[in-house]
Amino acid sequence: MMSYDKRSGKIWYNNDLVEWAEAKIHVLNHGLHYASCVFEGERVYEKSIFKLEEHTSRLFYSAKRMGMTIPYTEKEINDACNKIILVQNVENGYVRPTVWRGSEMMAISAQQTKIHVAIATWEWGSYFDPKLKVEGIRLNISNWRKPPPNTIPWDTKASGLYMINTLSKHEAEQQGYADSLMLDHEGNVAEATGANVFFKDKNGEIHTPIPDCFLDGITRRTVIEIAKSKGIKINERKIKPEELRDFVGCFLTGSAAEVTPVSCIVDNQFKVCETIIDLNKSYQTLVRKK
Ligand code: PMP
Repeated sequence: MMSYDKRSGKIWYNNDLVEWAEAKIHVLNHGLHYASCVFEGERVYEKSIFKLEEHTSRLFYSAKRMGMTIPYTEKEINDACNKIILVQNVENGYVRPTVWRGSEMMAISAQQTKIHVAIATWEWGSYFDPKLKVEGIRLNISNWRKPPPNTIPWDTKASGLYMINTLSKHEAEQQGYADSLMLDHEGNVAEATGANVFFKDKNGEIHTPIPDCFLDGITRRTVIEIAKSKGIKINERKIKPEELRDFVGCFLTGSAAEVTPVSCIVDNQFKVCETIIDLNKSYQTLVRKK
């Protein structure tokens, strides 16, 4: 696999288009040492970024929550995202805007650091193995819990939040699972390491945890809208892990994961039922609608 720093083309970097290999940071960088960094993950479908404005708004919200002022307007970032996918000629791919603090200060306080912005994009396929995306992926349950909401800016895409997600994902992969279901600080079902989680019960209703200490994904909200338009009842509520055995279906949602069915969570088995196949089809149609 080609390392991400060795690709070709351009990256939008502080309002300039720089050579891919030259889009660098110094090793003494606040974002790197202290996780003063926020980012987005967006998908390009047929040369157009799905829900670009929502992603850019969330990027600005995340930055604000981290005390960082992005030195551009939301419109300028939207234009920059559209420009870089054109320059890179991305038809179906991914966009990664990143905002981070620079090198001017190298301790906890970072008030005078410059705020940097970069946007990279590349052609990209399925987040999970395409075969498993049809059959359903297998999840373990992480030993790491989502922290209480008063301990972190939980409703952002701040890089520091991903420390426990990567630890969970690695643990899952080492055990032969594709991903990990994370519980919250009270032991309720929360989300997967990079996607939200939904369940279907035997009456055809859908259940999903209330996003009160983890990201309320843009895909999550989109899929809830799609499900409601089909007359499916959505229950946003606290879900205990003991309830998993009663559900008949399970799926994940995320910009990268899209709608991915889950075939089991440890020893709880789920069917890739019609409802999930149909929601996925509707999502795939919606993202390509011009
Ligand atoms: N939770 C986490 C931890 C994520 O990284 C993501 C992906 N951004 C999501 C949920 C889903 O968010 P979205 O649908 O906005 O991509």
